[in-house]
Amino acid sequence: MIQLVRGFKDILPPESSVWQYIENTAKQHFENFGFKEMRPPVLEQTELFKRSIGEHTDIVEKEMYTFAGSKDTMLTLRPEATASVVRAYIQHKLYAADPVCKFYTIGPMFRKERPQKGRYRQFHQINAEVFGVDSPYIDAQLVFMLMRFFERLSIGGLSAHLNSLGCPACRPAFRKDLAEMLAGHSDKLCEDCVRRLDKNPMRVLDCKVPSCREVVADAPSMLDYLCEDCALHFKAVQQILDKLEIAYEIDPGLVRGLDYYTRTAFEIQTEELGAQNAVAGGGRYDNLVEMLGGPAQPAIGFAVGVDRLVELVSAKFPAYDSGPQVFILPMGDQAMEMGAQFACLLADAGVITEADFSGRSLKALMRRADRMGAENVLIIGEQEISDNAALLRNMKTRHQQSIPMDRLVETIRAEFDG
Ligand code: AMP
Repeated sequence: MIQLVRGFKDILPPESSVWQYIENTAKQHFENFGFKEMRPPVLEQTELFKRSIGEHTDIVEKEMYTFAGSKDTMLTLRPEATASVVRAYIQHKLYAADPVCKFYTIGPMFRKERPQKGRYRQFHQINAEVFGVDSPYIDAQLVFMLMRFFERLSIGGLSAHLNSLGCPACRPAFRKDLAEMLAGHSDKLCEDCVRRLDKNPMRVLDCKVPSCREVVADAPSMLDYLCEDCALHFKAVQQILDKLEIAYEIDPGLVRGLDYYTRTAFEIQTEELGAQNAVAGGGRYDNLVEMLGGPAQPAIGFAVGVDRLVELVSAKFPAYDSGPQVFILPMGDQAMEMGAQFACLLADAGVITEADFSGRSLKALMRRADRMGAENVLIIGEQEISDNAALLRNMKTRHQQSIPMDRLVETIRAEFDG
């Protein structure tokens, strides 16, 4: 038998209803804040990710699904969404009418990471990106929007972690001091971090290896290096979050994995998951649009990991699945034909309808209706055909009513509308 690819998964009912619930809640919530949906493709030119995420990141160095396209182009299944949204913003000149654009995207991402609980090779993100606003108020608004989104989903134990990564004016001095300090302890760093020292020393700050954690405990903090503009910006983000009564922790170790971030970086963590405790992460990327050939427009965004949210939401609503509102049980050939018609007409009228055409005994069919969690059964037997009325029975109250066939669809629909 051909099996699923390792690190990939099938999303099956009833769990798929939790996915729909989360996605629908996100759409409604984000649209209240002025975001519109964008659906970029899952395949892009490899160059896009190399230039945006950075050559010396784990994602680009070892986690991308890349293959040859036509001619000399290399193609990659997107490992994240921001680069695609930026490409589309530039390619379609979405800034032309008004540089301020707000988009959200929902869809799968692909990274060849070591599969484990909470970490997959195809996983799903809800992203939001804002272009054209450098005001710190938008940074605070995004954190606020995220925290309220999780509250809507009844997810608790959350904490917001904030840091500022500075800008090209102030970051180089920090990077230099950090690299020097780390180089002095290279014997205690893991293999990956020794490699990162040259190219990307800031990544050492969020390495999870205990000996690396010990070394970085004494590392300098970017916050002590912020230039005046970056410091003021970061202060303002905090002030507006205070006004909105959003609790947060300042976390100088928060660097995020990608190169393109500037200034505000944030992560939302939960106590309710194991080691993979981040449910969302994001930050500013003020130079990326220009770096990819667009106009100099500041931007900020975040990604929510949907797979982890599903785990949290499923634990709260284990019985999310619902059975049909009406389960039609036709007995005999003539009844089957009527049942088939009503199954179509009722569903089309907005009533969740199922029917059983197996021809088994009423007792067997009632058992199946019960197992499926049907709210009502509609019995059509010989007697009902000769009376020209079907029998609607509520499975919980056992209340029964006879409904004339010629008014059946309107009557049942009215019952559920009321
Ligand atoms: P990132 O794009 O790495 O900043 O990740 C943003 C969010 O996506 C994280 O907070 C996770 O919730 C989720 N995420 C990232 N990588 C994976 C993965 N391999 N499997 C499942 N979720 C992931």
